[in-house]
Amino acid sequence: MSIQTEVARRRSFAIISHPDAGKTTLTEKLLLFSGAIQIAGTVRARKASRFATSDWMEIEKQRGISVASSVMQFVYRDCVINLLDTPGHQDFSEDTYRVLTAVDAALMVIDGANGIEPQTMRLLKICRARNIPIVTFVNKFDREVREPLDLLDELERELGMTPVPLTWPIGMGSRFRGVFDLRENRVRIFRAGEDRIGEESFVSPDDAAGMAALGPEWPQAEAEIELVQGASEPFDPQAFVSATQTPVYFGSAINNFGVREVLDAIVDFCPPPGAKHAEQREVEPTEDAFTGVVFKVQANMDPQHRDRVAFVRVCSGHFERGMPIVNARTKRTLRPHNVVTFLSQRRDIVDEAWPGDIIGIPNHGTLRLGDTLTQGENLQFTGLPWFAPEAFRSIEVVDPMKAKQLRAALDQLGDEGAIQVFRFDDGQMLLGAVGVLQFEVVAHRLAAEYGVAARIGPSTYIAARWVSCDDEAELERFISYNEARIARDTVDAPAYLAKMLVELEVAKERWPKIRFSAFREFG
Ligand code: GDP
Repeated sequence: MSIQTEVARRRSFAIISHPDAGKTTLTEKLLLFSGAIQIAGTVRARKASRFATSDWMEIEKQRGISVASSVMQFVYRDCVINLLDTPGHQDFSEDTYRVLTAVDAALMVIDGANGIEPQTMRLLKICRARNIPIVTFVNKFDREVREPLDLLDELERELGMTPVPLTWPIGMGSRFRGVFDLRENRVRIFRAGEDRIGEESFVSPDDAAGMAALGPEWPQAEAEIELVQGASEPFDPQAFVSATQTPVYFGSAINNFGVREVLDAIVDFCPPPGAKHAEQREVEPTEDAFTGVVFKVQANMDPQHRDRVAFVRVCSGHFERGMPIVNARTKRTLRPHNVVTFLSQRRDIVDEAWPGDIIGIPNHGTLRLGDTLTQGENLQFTGLPWFAPEAFRSIEVVDPMKAKQLRAALDQLGDEGAIQVFRFDDGQMLLGAVGVLQFEVVAHRLAAEYGVAARIGPSTYIAARWVSCDDEAELERFISYNEARIARDTVDAPAYLAKMLVELEVAKERWPKIRFSAFREFG
């Protein structure tokens, strides 16, 4: 098939939510509807068994949160859909930010009882900053939730884009009758139950008896629909793609209800892969040469394969198993033979991949976050963010004979983005993280995976800013003047460390030409 066809039939999106809104449940139902899995419970089982198969994820199990994000691929209506899960806990949101660089759209799951929650808001901001189109699914209408008009108001206020309902709920909780499909002009009848895939029933507004059977919930919904349609803009797919409108669906994921509409929205409205920005030029997905970018690195997902997996988003061209590809940073050639995708616990071997697809390349540290893969061209994709740490810890090895191992282990963990490692000129090391839970994961992994006991203690630093300047000499002067406060990260980028915010303010005033930035992009 031609590359144009393959690109046009790809949809890659991330699923985002506050913990407990129903992300896992909806993910599973999406797979179920597409036929990718047969049995409900598979994703949840996978979620559970992932913990069991991997030691360091014990932490995840203990806390009942999802540390790792993963990738699923399935076919629906002849579209190849790549679904990227994101960790829900805020301490791991750095990972989520990077996942959001690898998708063309996002599906936001909202708990109808809670509306927009803090983690959703945080993720939304990133989507907004990157202009990622968002499909909204308001979940749990089989329960007593908030009034739909109230929810819509909140979406309008908080999203910074116009919510346009494409379905409208009729009743809720024990009186949930279904949703009115505003585009198809018919009611999809709700029936509770997990196994009702394919048993869909509809009522047309022309069917007076059918509508009367919906009870008093229908006239109320009808009045709301009139109100909403009078007040809101009509849905415009182009406005969705440019992230100024979000289509809103109501449903109950656990009852398989409202799921098909969401899948259809992904196929019908979500954009196929677009051009990607590299330092040197824009890269079109339909170019012949393969390019890709590493947006996530994860260690030891499976104890049988004690290696690291680099998650690569294909940006252009056609990838075939075994073909030589070049890491543009190191100029080294690799020939990945056992490239993988992940679905329901198996590692499926991939023979080929097209733009928008995500492939996992096992390696022993040759690939790191932000690396650009090409067929020889010197390219560096941009846009993968590092955020300035907000928490710091000192780190010391317990057994001085193991200092080298500790450095190597921290280098690896740093490359993965599990933690940020800063080194001062005198060899002193500092750990930085956006969320403090990351320190626990690192302490655990150092001991469990690398056999290095380390003392992780408090630190007096409170802020880090990467420093840069158009005038190299000025940057040199700044660095030598502030030597004791300058540390370098894993790619040797210099950062200024402050013990009080006022120090940072003073430094900014004294050195007006220096840029102090709270995040660093790759490249
Ligand atoms: P996640 O943390 O966002 O992945 O949320 P989960 O999918 O694990 O769901 C959190 C809880 O909400 C679980 O107990 C689910 O069974 C429940 N849940 C998910 N969807 C629905 C729904 O449509 N209705 C009801 N009543 N409960 C739901």
